[in-house]
Amino acid sequence: MYTSLLIEKDDNGYRTTLCERQEQDLTEGDVTVAVDYSSLNYKDALAITGKGPIVRKFPMVPGIDFTGTVTASAHPAWKAGDSVVLTGWGVGEKHPGGLAQVARVNGDWLVPLPAGASGWQVMAIGTAGLTAMLCVDALERNGITPQSGTVLVTGASGGVGSFAVALLSRLGYDVTASTGRTAEQPWLTTLGATAVIDRNEISQPGKPLQKERWAAVIDTVGSHTLANACASVNYGGVVAACGMAQGMDFPSTVAPFILRGVTLAGVDSVMIPLAQRQQAWQRVTDLLDTPLLASLATTYPLADTIALADKLFAGEIRGRAVIRCR
Ligand code: NDP
Repeated sequence: MYTSLLIEKDDNGYRTTLCERQEQDLTEGDVTVAVDYSSLNYKDALAITGKGPIVRKFPMVPGIDFTGTVTASAHPAWKAGDSVVLTGWGVGEKHPGGLAQVARVNGDWLVPLPAGASGWQVMAIGTAGLTAMLCVDALERNGITPQSGTVLVTGASGGVGSFAVALLSRLGYDVTASTGRTAEQPWLTTLGATAVIDRNEISQPGKPLQKERWAAVIDTVGSHTLANACASVNYGGVVAACGMAQGMDFPSTVAPFILRGVTLAGVDSVMIPLAQRQQAWQRVTDLLDTPLLASLATTYPLADTIALADKLFAGEIRGRAVIRCR
């Protein structure tokens, strides 16, 4: 028996409970992992509360990322005792996820823990940190360097945003953080933001072309914020779009793209190929030291996860929530 979160949807409605399950309930996958840590991402909170259509199959174990130790494997790449990390691939959405003490998954989806990193460190980074790293990679691939000028990060107090601020700062970029939580200004400054702006400045409907303000933008919120980011990035600038905390919509025009040569770079962490994934994991763990991660992440027991999902939407969780599963 092991403890697991379980989402069910039936005639009695949509509900998430903490329950005891048996390993034979895990019918998919060829590698069994004793899960040490998972985390609470925006997507997990949507799944747990039912606020967003994340779960495609019921019952479902939520948890889009985890670290742990292989206990049994029928996959040639893995053996008992291997330390692994999994993010994405629809785990916690279409396939049972990591908010449990045991997970069984497809061995093709696992990545070895990056050299020199612990399971806690890697989950403190988690999908959010990996995505922030992929956003920075996207800016660089499109020619942005610290010499290009200031980079704006939106949703800066959130999981992806706070990592984006920290990573850019460590790489020598000048960073402006946009947040609705202005009380977090000192924390964002500690992470490396040189300026903090109120998100209301950039979250309302705006003109198709605005004053050029940023060399590049990492946007985690979408909607009008993303449209304004495209409208106010410098000539030849780059906007990396990875999130939709404000909304899925993109009320923009083609003006920034055809008149200023702006590049809109989409970033996905779920299905990226293994080689790119491994490279990003190594880079992000090399850049972020344990004291910094300790300031970015708080650890909670598995039993607290359901209550935490509501707190995430209430803006009461700063940075990352790491979940200790055993
Ligand atoms: P968090 O909830 O931790 O952070 C989101 C942040 O967005 C909040 O902290 C808040 O920042 C800001 N925000 C929330 N609501 C609004 C609003 N109505 N208007 C403007 N800003 C708002 O989520 P994550 O960091 O985990 O994820 C951020 C986004 O990125 C999500 O949409 C998520 O689905 C997406 N994502 C995408 C991935 C990919 O592969 N593309 C991977 C991981 C996440 P503040 O308080 O500072 O204003």
